[in-house]
Amino acid sequence: VSSLNAVEGSINSPLHRFVRAKKKINQSFDEILDYLKESRRFLIDCEISNQYDGETKRDLKKVDNYLTQVVGIHEVLKRDHMKVAFFGRTSNGKSTVINAMLSERILPAGIGHTTNCFLSVNGADGNDAYIEDTSKNPPERNSVESLQQLAHALHNQKLDSSSHLKVYWPTTKCPLLKDDVVFVDSPGVDVTPDLDTWIDTHCLDADVFVLVVNSESTINHTEKSFFHKVNSKLSKPNIFILNNRWDASAEGDPEMIKLVKQQHMERTSEFLVKELKCVSQAESADRIFFVSALETLRHRMSMKRSKMPQREPSIDENSDFDEAAYRMGKMARRQEFEDFENKFKECISKSAITTKFNGHTSTGITIAKEMVQIMEQILARASSHRSWCTAERQEQQETLDFINSKLEEVTEQIKNKIQNITEEVEMQVTKAMSD
Ligand code: GDP
Repeated sequence: VSSLNAVEGSINSPLHRFVRAKKKINQSFDEILDYLKESRRFLIDCEISNQYDGETKRDLKKVDNYLTQVVGIHEVLKRDHMKVAFFGRTSNGKSTVINAMLSERILPAGIGHTTNCFLSVNGADGNDAYIEDTSKNPPERNSVESLQQLAHALHNQKLDSSSHLKVYWPTTKCPLLKDDVVFVDSPGVDVTPDLDTWIDTHCLDADVFVLVVNSESTINHTEKSFFHKVNSKLSKPNIFILNNRWDASAEGDPEMIKLVKQQHMERTSEFLVKELKCVSQAESADRIFFVSALETLRHRMSMKRSKMPQREPSIDENSDFDEAAYRMGKMARRQEFEDFENKFKECISKSAITTKFNGHTSTGITIAKEMVQIMEQILARASSHRSWCTAERQEQQETLDFINSKLEEVTEQIKNKIQNITEEVEMQVTKAMSD
């Protein structure tokens, strides 16, 4: 039942829209490819039988160009996925947010595990996890069985901050990976990066950016300048801001907490709305969240372990500590994390369908239309050739009929002439005999 629920959950997920769209567009390009191959064979046959020579050669060249184009698009489409990239200062909790979304400790997080290069988490079909170093040629693959092994492998890799290490994790373990989402963790923006190279190499194809900020401090100049650069290269990037570690900030006087939250909200929304101008004021509320990635991760891991909904322990009535409020806070933060995920899924699926498939769809339609036109022209040429043949045959028939009638006429004349001669000769003979 639980696996059926998981499948159903995945099918109803907004992410599945992308998966379905990808399947559909791949099928359409499969059909276009078959059609082009068939047309090519037909045109070659026409060329061999020397029909409509010049035009056939020109059409064949066009079809060959379309074939190359479609094979290329097909390859790109097969590899297409939704990409979400996480940015922020070191230790703000980027790796923990990714782990929480995947409900598993995949990326090493915490002291000594600073992400020092770009690290993506991709879905793998089999049961084995492995890492691929794309800076090597050909890319090097190493299997990893545990988080410790991955941490060790990452520690041993001597990579600069713009290198890219791909972690492949079995999709059976993480539904989000099955739905074609790729997570990209980045080195902290405070690690004196060459921001332009980062953006050009890793960000231009990202569908969503998540800025993970530490809610104990405030969004700073480096974080802002990074997104200003992203904004200048991509029109209206989809940016979410997670005020992480909200558990640590949300302790103490409730009035004070409310004030701090309001302050963060105002600053981050001003950044998105007025500085980057990538969302409206109304939309900004769906882009800014106050979460605790660590609490969400812990909760999801314990749910996974027990495979049963966790019941909160009962409240100790005599305790000074306000447990009820504490628990309410925790639940609210988990709920907010889920709200973020729901908005994120809607946004990434919509954006990826538009950016990844729109261009290819119109190219596919243009090629299909052009092919119909080519085939219609061939049909027109064939039927005009047929009517030319018919006219030619008719003309030949008329000539034949004329010759026949002429022949008949001449034959008749000859017959008459012979008749006349015979009669003349008979007369001459009869006259001679009577003389
Ligand atoms: P990164 O460098 O941005 O990837 O940060 P990490 O994910 O490695 O997190 C740095 C440290 O912050 C780790 O020790 C995490 O356990 C801790 N951490 C991450 N998220 C939270 C959170 O929401 N609350 C608290 N209290 N700690 C967190």
